[in-house]
Amino acid sequence: MINTLISNILPFMPEKLVWLFSKDYIAGETIEQAIVNALQLNSDGMMTTIDVLGECISTLEEADANKKEYLEVIAKSEAAGVNGNYSLKPTFFGLLIDPEVAYNHIREVVAKAASYRNFVRIDMEDSPCTDLSIDLLRRIKEEFPENIGLVFQAYLKRTHNDLHNLSDLNSKEIPLNFRICKGIYNESPEIAYKQYENINKHFLEDVEYMFQQKMYPAIATHDKNVVNGTLELVKKYKVSKNMYEFQMLYGVTPALRKSLVDDGHRMRVYVPFGKQWFGYCTRRLKENPKMAGVIIKAIFKKS
Ligand SMILES: Cc1cc2nc3c(=O)[nH]c(=O)nc-3n(C[C@H](O)[C@H](O)[C@H](O)COP(=O)(O)OP(=O)(O)OC[C@H]3O[C@@H](n4cnc5c(N)ncnc54)[C@H](O)[C@@H]3O)c2cc1C
Repeated sequence: MINTLISNILPFMPEKLVWLFSKDYIAGETIEQAIVNALQLNSDGMMTTIDVLGECISTLEEADANKKEYLEVIAKSEAAGVNGNYSLKPTFFGLLIDPEVAYNHIREVVAKAASYRNFVRIDMEDSPCTDLSIDLLRRIKEEFPENIGLVFQAYLKRTHNDLHNLSDLNSKEIPLNFRICKGIYNESPEIAYKQYENINKHFLEDVEYMFQQKMYPAIATHDKNVVNGTLELVKKYKVSKNMYEFQMLYGVTPALRKSLVDDGHRMRVYVPFGKQWFGYCTRRLKENPKMAGVIIKAIFKKS
């Protein structure tokens, strides 16, 4: 109750106060800070995917500035030798203003990553973006087959079909690299499963389909049940450890993360950074009110 209440009033609290709740979940305001944290994760045996915080924009000038920021992030991260790739949200590049402009920007970002033989993943946003994001993947993959991936959301009823429809792009040489997650947006029950058990069931069915098709799934979850279900599928299909990875958000469930790393599974941490940390954190805290309680305890212990 109290956690939910706190999570709901967070967006109205002063930034400095929210920062106290949030600083463990973002990797800093600058790319330099994010790189330090990413290198630390690397030395603890994990890969990273760096994300510049920020979602909705209202002008194409902002889209252009965001592209320039990503190009700089890639150059700096590669120069620092970070073992990690990049994640981006297409609306950050103007997807809902002008999809062609967004395509050109994202193509340029992928080209930059490809010049270092690296990889960019298109995060999946809410349902008006789904088809547009799949189109982006198809177009960019033609030119950069090894350097681009996408995300699918297990809560969407369409996801299994989407995976099936894209399987023509899969090959032994270049397996499709898709992140599968539960999905974070508030979608209507017409298009999305709503119950925990149902979402988990479809999550594991999607992972199973990807194993059957010999795709490369990135299993993005902090849910022990989904992790254990995935490990059973790994055994069932005798999937080698270089054919999948787990992914978790920076600062979330570090014990579960470590246990997977200790058992030799690939782990990639999503490293969000940037000046727009406030929106990201209030959303994360609202998504998981339990977290507010954990953070409050930590604050009381410190004082
Ligand atoms: C690497 C990564 C990338 C993602 N990319 C996308 C994306 O592109 N599009 C999209 O829609 N969604 C994305 N998500 C979010 C995802 O869809 C879920 O909303 C989120 O991960 C919570 O679901 P869960 O699988 O962790 O399980 P849940 O059922 O939410 O949680 C299970 C347990 O995990 C722990 N836990 C879960 N979340 C948190 C948290 N935030 N803080 C603290 N503890 C937590 C709690 O102990 C909880 O009881 C991503 C998630 C990850 C990990």
